Amino acid sequence: MSKLNRKKFLRGLAIGTIGLPFALRSLGVQKSSIAQNAGKNSFQKTFEWKMVTTWPPDFPVLGEGCNLFAEYVDQMSNGRLKIKVYGGGELVPALGAFDAVQSNAAEMGSGVSYYWAGKVPAAQFFASVPFGMNAQQVNAWLYSGGGLELWEELYAEHGLVPLIGGNTGVQMGGWFNKEINSLKDLKGLKMRMPGLGGKVLEKAGGSPILLAGNELYTGLERGVIDATEWIGPYHDYKMGFYQIAKYYYTPGWHETGAILEFFINKDRFEELPSDLQSIVRHAAARINHWMLSEFEAKNAYYLKLMVNEHGVQLRQFPREVLESFKVHTKEAIQELVDSDPFSKRVYDSYSKFQKEINYWSIHTEKPFYNDLIT
Ligand code: CA
Repeated sequence: MSKLNRKKFLRGLAIGTIGLPFALRSLGVQKSSIAQNAGKNSFQKTFEWKMVTTWPPDFPVLGEGCNLFAEYVDQMSNGRLKIKVYGGGELVPALGAFDAVQSNAAEMGSGVSYYWAGKVPAAQFFASVPFGMNAQQVNAWLYSGGGLELWEELYAEHGLVPLIGGNTGVQMGGWFNKEINSLKDLKGLKMRMPGLGGKVLEKAGGSPILLAGNELYTGLERGVIDATEWIGPYHDYKMGFYQIAKYYYTPGWHETGAILEFFINKDRFEELPSDLQSIVRHAAARINHWMLSEFEAKNAYYLKLMVNEHGVQLRQFPREVLESFKVHTKEAIQELVDSDPFSKRVYDSYSKFQKEINYWSIHTEKPFYNDLIT
């Protein structure tokens, strides 16, 4: 903050409410998160919403996050906004959630924005970018680097309001039934891999397939797919992949800090009174912290458990393979930004921020991790 801004900031705090919007802006809280388009409804009115999700009912962590979100909103609103959560397939198919919220069949949804890449290409950047930013970096871009405003602008074109709904942290590279020793081993490999990662795999000779979470275990077991990526040890253990695939690869080059989303029908959001809008935004922010903490706290335990007690073979992708993925990532992104102006705007913002924040990281965290972690 500049000297002048700092003075204004302190004065703003001192004069209370007049200074609050400025103080919040100084702290990176966007105007939209205060009470933009505050609904004209009475503060006494109650609302009942449906949330459709891309997860199986009560799915660990991801579905749990949706249930917790509804619980927090209920508590904070003193029961004025009730949200009933539906698993994928209960009200609409898992990958039908976006359309359902757009058409107002449900007020809100939960998913990952790369599921909608076919309809909204630029949405992929708000899920994960191969060789992209990690969780703390991407949160910095979204909350304080202009990322969320771009996401809001993009989804507004589709009648939706997006909220950051969680982060998985860095993921694993996936489950395979054979070792990946060279690029040859990727030829024709049918692998579940959504988003830009899927495009990269295709360029590297593989065959990416988009399947929702509830179809993965049987898909892998029956040979519909040869390999799958999912999340990381904690969740992958719960999915049971260690029972049907032997090799577990690192790193998750394709999802270095994957973002989850809530999306709300814009008209339904805007008819909420301003306090309920704020409650919804704050509940989402709390889920974002909660989810990353859950994954980070539990991944190591489950990785050791699978390696030590279930015979899982931990492998790292050969450098040749990762380097090839990196080259293909540049090509895939270039094709996307050339074909879609909004994708170009988002990627310009993302890549500029990544370059900037990496300058900080390579002088601080990188030497720490290189030399001090054992
Ligand atoms: Ca994944």
